[in-house]
Amino acid sequence: MTTLPLTPPLLITGGRVIDPANGIDGVSDLLLADGVVKGVRRSIPADSIDGNPRVIRADGLVAAPGFIDIHTHLREPGFEYKETIATGAAAAARGGFTTICAMPNTEPPIDNAAVVDYVMNRAATAPVRVQVIGCVTRNRAGRELADLEELSAAGVVAFSDDGDPVRDSALMRLALTYGRDLGAPISSHCQDDSLCPGGLMAEGWVSSRLGLPGIPAAAEEAMAARDLALAELTGGRLHLAHLSSAGSVAMVRQAKDRGLPVTAEVCPHHLLLTDAWALGGKGNPAVAAGPASYDTDTKVYPPLRSAADVAACLAGLADGTIDCVATDHAPHEPASKECTYHDAAFGISVLETALGTLMTPVHRGAVSLPAMIDRLTVGPARVLGAAFTRYASLSPGTPADLVLFDPGAAWTVDVNQFASLGRNTPLHGVELRGRVAATLVGGNVVFEEPALFRSGGGR
Ligand SMILES: [Zn+2]
Repeated sequence: MTTLPLTPPLLITGGRVIDPANGIDGVSDLLLADGVVKGVRRSIPADSIDGNPRVIRADGLVAAPGFIDIHTHLREPGFEYKETIATGAAAAARGGFTTICAMPNTEPPIDNAAVVDYVMNRAATAPVRVQVIGCVTRNRAGRELADLEELSAAGVVAFSDDGDPVRDSALMRLALTYGRDLGAPISSHCQDDSLCPGGLMAEGWVSSRLGLPGIPAAAEEAMAARDLALAELTGGRLHLAHLSSAGSVAMVRQAKDRGLPVTAEVCPHHLLLTDAWALGGKGNPAVAAGPASYDTDTKVYPPLRSAADVAACLAGLADGTIDCVATDHAPHEPASKECTYHDAAFGISVLETALGTLMTPVHRGAVSLPAMIDRLTVGPARVLGAAFTRYASLSPGTPADLVLFDPGAAWTVDVNQFASLGRNTPLHGVELRGRVAATLVGGNVVFEEPALFRSGGGR
């Protein structure tokens, strides 16, 4: 989104407004106009507003700042058969995300200003705000730094070679030093691949049962430890992407206690699913005890791990050790998953199931709802920097980027309903509770699900 048309007044009434940035959690009315939030008060009578406002009745719904995803694979340019900026942005709107950050592992990779411009131009008509992440190394090859200053001047918000680690420690040191001076985080895909050659899933009893090469948690933790040491050495802003192991969470907790400039993210699937889902029973232990079916939609890096790792990631998210949830939305075409587990691509299509997935631990009491919303708004904005805090609050004058959702609505995931071209999720056919009712960007409704508005059809 580049320019926002001025929007007429829009009054959202009766919703539970949760605005973690301002410590707000209560039933309130919300007035939006001219693309920004005008006010949040217990009661705002429609007849007190000039300009005949549209009214959305949000009784029973939660109203919150729109979600920010700092880890989205949009696949364009180069892999438009997996996803395009348009389809990925539409999926984001359906998922309640109002800002997404495009990862640079495209073809060509986003390692120079021309490709940044191309992506920004393609995103100009997208229904949500699309930010761009630039490569750390030229051509993502891990041999020499990309021109980080050029990328920064072109408007990238972070740097990452995600999909691959920056294997060379000296190069990572240099990247963190430049990142420090440019005020941009380096997002690290932690994987010491010498520890997991050919690894396909978490190393454990399930990988043994399936006869698949394992990926030990140490492959992630060894790289996270290196990067933490380099963050301390350089003072650069290190962001650890998609953490999945209890050991990694413990290291980040210790690093933050020591005041290191580190932030971290966890993905929705690592907060709910375990490696046992690879057996094909969608987590049902009775099914898992029968013949295994090798569900390739569970193949993802980092891999789904043990229940203890899931619990540690949840605890880290709840206590703020983990700053934010990020989707690592990784859409693939069917042929990339309709094959052997060995041949299948890594990745899960996440944008449209994220909220329903995240509401499961909220309903179980592992994380409070305001805390979860904080990790989807304030947390990711903090990773990106001060310029983004205005997208993570409902303070008057901030952009009217909002999500309305029904926290208890039960629905069954059907990939045929996805806006994303990526139908690759092990959650197909699974019932989740928590569904997006509407998404607004700059005061414009970019997605709505009329069935979820209880009174008067919503408007
Ligand atoms: Zn990654």
